[in-house]
Amino acid sequence: MPTAAALADHVRRVTLAESKRAEVGHIGSSLSVADVLGALFAEVLNVPAVDDPDRDRFILSKGHAALALYAALHGVGRLSDEQLRGFCGELSPLGAHPEHRVDGIDFSTGSLGMGLPMGAGAALAARLQGSRRRVFVLVSDAECNEGSLWEAVMFAAHRGLGNLVAIVDLNGQQALGYTRDVLDLAPLAERWRAFGWDVTETDGHDAPGLARLLGGLDPEAERPHAVIARTTFGKGVSYMEGRIKWHYWPMSDDEYAQALAEVGA
Ligand SMILES: [Mg+2]
Repeated sequence: MPTAAALADHVRRVTLAESKRAEVGHIGSSLSVADVLGALFAEVLNVPAVDDPDRDRFILSKGHAALALYAALHGVGRLSDEQLRGFCGELSPLGAHPEHRVDGIDFSTGSLGMGLPMGAGAALAARLQGSRRRVFVLVSDAECNEGSLWEAVMFAAHRGLGNLVAIVDLNGQQALGYTRDVLDLAPLAERWRAFGWDVTETDGHDAPGLARLLGGLDPEAERPHAVIARTTFGKGVSYMEGRIKWHYWPMSDDEYAQALAEVGA
């Protein structure tokens, strides 16, 4: 099993390579969460077997970063080279958004604001079944614009779901603008706290630190956990960082070569 940092590097390289091969965008959103996914899949998620009912669950609520999820699954040996190369190809189960027909993906996502409601249900089910499994949900900051997210926030606090962890990818951007202009989220941590959650703010690009933090959250706690991860959209590729264009745009050949060089591939 790779370390959190090594898996995050793998996620960056695979995201660039497969995005280029398939001519599909959502690169900046994927690079934003590479370290979070590296930490989760290398060092946090307990998955003894893909069909183990007590395995931890992970939901990529920001489903448009699917390529980063596929890269993480590939990096821990849960997707083959051949499966990965099918990304966005005809009849491939690996589409631009995750589908639950793929082994290792429990929930289809991409309709924003829906991942945390599903996660809250999964966490409640675990409690009712007496299972120790944990549920981790990665949401975008812009999903905090969605009423459905806040319904789940209230529900999880009401049911005391300490086995639920929401990780907020706080990159300050969304598809068509900066969150401060579209719908300002500040003060985000205080808002989650006011709804009854245990909240930690952290550097979303410190993969080892994220692994320690996420792995140490108490699933027996009476409050659900929110980790506000401060991230940079397009992290690691200088011309993408903080640029709205790279929500959708694919790379030219020259841009691809520069991106690979910058992430050390
Ligand atoms: Mg965002």
